[in-house]
Amino acid sequence: MQLFDTHAHLYDSSLLPQLNEVLGRAREVGVRGVCCIGTDLETSRQAVELARSHSGVHAVVGFQPNHCHGLTDADWEALLQLVDDPTVVGIGETGLDRYWKDCPFEEQWFWFERHWGLAKSRDMPLVIHMRDCEADIVHFIEEHRKDWPIRGIMHSFTGNWNTASKALDAGMHISFAGMVTFKASDDLRSVARRVPQDRLLIETDSPYLSPEPLRGRRPNEPGRVLHTLRCLAETIGVSADLLAEQTTRNAVELFRLDEQFESL
Ligand SMILES: [Zn+2]
Repeated sequence: MQLFDTHAHLYDSSLLPQLNEVLGRAREVGVRGVCCIGTDLETSRQAVELARSHSGVHAVVGFQPNHCHGLTDADWEALLQLVDDPTVVGIGETGLDRYWKDCPFEEQWFWFERHWGLAKSRDMPLVIHMRDCEADIVHFIEEHRKDWPIRGIMHSFTGNWNTASKALDAGMHISFAGMVTFKASDDLRSVARRVPQDRLLIETDSPYLSPEPLRGRRPNEPGRVLHTLRCLAETIGVSADLLAEQTTRNAVELFRLDEQFESL
């Protein structure tokens, strides 16, 4: 089986000291690749460092919306320099968040637009975070409608079908994390059932939110993406092997990794 974890924060202090073991366990269950996602300048730099030093790890760099307050043009310039590194395969995570109050919403919107423009100008996929702001994300998509489709991911998706279908129409992929495996997530599973299989991705969002049957066991790690894959396969009614192959192919194509890319 071949798996691809499209979203992990491998530099987290709960994972970094045991990273070789973590990646070894992922390799054992068939994970071929992991995208390591930055949330600010420091962690974006760490993501690039980890991608340089571990085959099968790829970097995505950007400022997560809760880390945008007070950003300067100098910060943005520094990010632009990172984007040129050959290990960088995407821009993010970016997006909008009304749950935490770390950054005023207008400021989040401003930086989301900047990330979006960067992804578009570099023709790189955009990794989008959305929390408690589905209507705003739909608004953002509609406002930029004329300039879509754009390649990108609605990451750790927990929204409804309306939002998913708007994102799909705009050309995006939908990625599911541990939440889709939770017993109470019937609504989310019915959204997953409607997503075309060539637009589906899986992720762990490590170290957060371990999937069932490991819910609550921290830290989450890339090898656990297998549980999310199995849950999705059962939800959709396809074999786990087929869905693993499909979601890995989707990731390889979306991030434009050579089919023969170096495995984990
Ligand atoms: Zn994340």
